[in-house]
Amino acid sequence: MNFKTTVYSLLLTSLCIACSTDSESDSSSNQNNTGIITEEIKNRNRKNVGDSANDLLANATYKSTIFEIFYVKDYKPTEETIENFKAFVTDRLNKSKGWEFRLEEITVPTKSAYTLDEIKAMENNLRTQYNTSDKVAVFGIYLDAKYAGNTENNSVLGIAYQNTSFAIFENTVKNFGNKPLSPSRTVLSTTVLNHEFGHLLGLVNVGTAMQTNHQDTAHGKHCDVDNCLMYWTAETGEGLLNSITGGKIPTLDAQCLTDLKANGGM
Ligand SMILES: [Zn+2]
Ligand SMILES: [Zn+2]
Repeated sequence: MNFKTTVYSLLLTSLCIACSTDSESDSSSNQNNTGIITEEIKNRNRKNVGDSANDLLANATYKSTIFEIFYVKDYKPTEETIENFKAFVTDRLNKSKGWEFRLEEITVPTKSAYTLDEIKAMENNLRTQYNTSDKVAVFGIYLDAKYAGNTENNSVLGIAYQNTSFAIFENTVKNFGNKPLSPSRTVLSTTVLNHEFGHLLGLVNVGTAMQTNHQDTAHGKHCDVDNCLMYWTAETGEGLLNSITGGKIPTLDAQCLTDLKANGGM
């Protein structure tokens, strides 16, 4: 599956989705002096995938990162998935002031599938954290239904769709995690979460320059090393069932790691 095609080529009707969250938006740090987060401020976080790779990796401008992750009730990522992701982030991001991780439950109307436009509309309603002068903000959402772009043999588990935004189709992750001989839900869920965040970090060749040629151009912005986290099969349930062996979460191969270091990461 071509990554760019997946996230950019959908021309779909935008629906406004009512969401509720029990947390209050906080901090005046990403608001202007009237207390309002303007469209201009929000637009910093509405760029293309990979555009904030250096912002996320390096310590030059942004000294810390805030992850604001929402989940639909009953589709919370497992504790183990969260711990795995925190370890991945700690190992890769070069941030002198560290990172903060917020997880919030939401309730939404029942749906059978989500289009990209619908996910963007939810982000607009929910997101409270945008980049400030020294903090880069990431939005993530765990959804209760499948991706509308799924095809018969292509069940998308996650998408990275803007410079600091990703979505995980946790219901699809759960369904694949329940199949016989499948890796556990935590292995699938961690793999897709780390993989989508890898795209936000500019892998492969989408905002982080390649130090050696390892792009699998037939599959878009993916790595051509078949046991690397950024191999193209990590994004779909069918792909992961066939590629994860021994229940191990794939890691980044040496070439992907070299790329991240060259772009300010660790
Ligand atoms: Zn991918
Ligand atoms: Zn790789």
